[in-house]
Amino acid sequence: MKFLNTFRSLVETQPDAKAFIHRDETMTYRVLDALSDDLGEQIKHSKKPLIVYGHMSKWMIVGMIGALKAGIGYVPIDVSIPKDRIEKIFETIQPELIFATEQMETDVKVITPDDVSESSAQLVGVQHSDVAYTIFTSGSTGMPKGVEILGESLDEFIDWMASLYVRQEENYWLNQAPLSFDLSVMAVYPALATGSALVMIDKDMIKKPIGIYETLKQYPMSAWVSTPSFMEMCLMLPEFDMAHHENLKHFYFCGEALKHKTAENLKSKFNESRIYNTYGPTEATVAVTGIEVTDEVLSKYNPLPVGYARPGVSLSINDDELHIHGKAVSIGYVNAPDKTAAQFYNNGERSYKTGDKGRIEDGLLFIDGRIDFQIKLNGYRMELEEIEHVITEQQGIQGCIVTPIEKQGKVQYLVAHVITSSFDENELKEQLKTVLPEYMIPRKFNVIEQLPMTANGKVDRKALIGEN
Ligand code: AMP
Repeated sequence: MKFLNTFRSLVETQPDAKAFIHRDETMTYRVLDALSDDLGEQIKHSKKPLIVYGHMSKWMIVGMIGALKAGIGYVPIDVSIPKDRIEKIFETIQPELIFATEQMETDVKVITPDDVSESSAQLVGVQHSDVAYTIFTSGSTGMPKGVEILGESLDEFIDWMASLYVRQEENYWLNQAPLSFDLSVMAVYPALATGSALVMIDKDMIKKPIGIYETLKQYPMSAWVSTPSFMEMCLMLPEFDMAHHENLKHFYFCGEALKHKTAENLKSKFNESRIYNTYGPTEATVAVTGIEVTDEVLSKYNPLPVGYARPGVSLSINDDELHIHGKAVSIGYVNAPDKTAAQFYNNGERSYKTGDKGRIEDGLLFIDGRIDFQIKLNGYRMELEEIEHVITEQQGIQGCIVTPIEKQGKVQYLVAHVITSSFDENELKEQLKTVLPEYMIPRKFNVIEQLPMTANGKVDRKALIGEN
């Protein structure tokens, strides 16, 4: 991969520059190189990708880079993913090795940070046509889908991101997304490819945003990568403006719609910064379109466009649905040929049916929601059918439909309409916490007698939306 060469030359030219920062933990380019060489050497014979488990520590990055160097690729799993879901991921991957940066119970062979020390190794590295990483997203049957991204796709994406970044005297990239969410790829690799320091925001800081404020005060951030929802929260922080963060010249958003109001508010606080709205699914390597949201764009468009196709990508609209073509597109879902065939095709180039309603105007792409039931809540992507599937599996539940409650086009929370004879809401929520991430658990439960049907015998979701 081109990225590994870029990284190696940075290790030579700036060995003592910081590559990673999380709270008081830091790591230089030299140390990241030496630790990932050692890990890479230990795992290079594995026939399966390395599972990299944990949260925001430097070891997660060591695991990811080590697996790329070893040529085997990796599957990132954040601590917030429940055990049951991890088991499903393991069923699909059949891993040989786990790099557990946090405590983990498993029968699979585990390597921990204690087993890794600084050394130097000659490793082949992931090639263009090897899988660099596999990220799992929500699947409608309750089985998460593992999206396989090739080395060439990742390289093309990194090149594009690096072209949108103007190096400053001090280069610090903020990453908000957990490493199992592909938005983090937008911070991790462009930061390392541009010789910057990657600054991690963890889940406790997000719960208590004062931690973010402290981090922002401590480091002269130059680039910001987050969901728009996270930015909405940060816009309420004190001293969050150009006067206090004069190095913060780049904002990159992806993962959900960037509201006009949010961009306008941000632009008023950071009027000299470049704000990018980017769009893409995990299946097409994070983001495939982008646009700088200038004053002109703000005055011309509301809602905002998601931009122009990046180099190497082409787009088409078929019956309202956006299709993406090019090397950005994944080779499919791991060990799931049927699901892959349903979403991907190849007429000379890899193509993916997004399920998003797309519209092209003035050469710009606009996204008008989903054609299926996948939604975004607080930046997390989920399929309502998966939540329904899991709830229906719980004791005493005969049927379930989950409806999103929206305000101004944005999902605020979920309501589960359940058919049940005996029902204790708190008990059910506790039960669900063991099988679903907390953000997927509906806020309200509404007991119904039967599921409404449409004329052709399908469940009528729309009929339930009014019943909260
Ligand atoms: P994920 O695979 O988690 O990144 O989710 C991808 C989905 O998020 C896309 O298919 C869209 O539905 C939505 N999405 C991502 N970026 C944007 C954006 N800039 N505007 C609107 N929707 C977006």
